[in-house]
Amino acid sequence: MNRIFLDMDGVLVNFDEYKDVCGLSGDEVKKLQGAYLSMNPLQGAISGVHSLIGMGFDVWVATKPPTGIAWAYSDKASWIFSYLPELKRKLIITPDKGLLGDEKDFLVDDRPHKANCEKFRGTLVVFGTQICPDWQALIQYFKEVRGVRIYA
Ligand SMILES: [Mg+2]
Repeated sequence: MNRIFLDMDGVLVNFDEYKDVCGLSGDEVKKLQGAYLSMNPLQGAISGVHSLIGMGFDVWVATKPPTGIAWAYSDKASWIFSYLPELKRKLIITPDKGLLGDEKDFLVDDRPHKANCEKFRGTLVVFGTQICPDWQALIQYFKEVRGVRIYA
């Protein structure tokens, strides 16, 4: 079964919305204990994860922690337990996503230049681009990977 590793910030979690509402920089938000727990999912992310699982993919979360901030690990875990409890045993918190997966797997990330994503051995799907701007486009991509034909 192919695995899909999903990034959190900017893929599952609407980090930018929270940052903008609070008028803080990204680094300031990362130093704010508990802030993560107030962040919303990206539009379509939760139902999108359920769709990927329904398509037969083995879905994991792969997220980079802010360096040296211990409680960020538990905040990220709490967010997953709250919004995607079915992934509570599929959460990987690592600064090096290049260690994950094999050639048949997928990594979905909005910042491919971070966390050693370029060294990921499978297919790197860059989220938030013109080609894959949102979850609707991402689900469409994985339907095509699965060979599901869409008749419009
Ligand atoms: Mg990200």
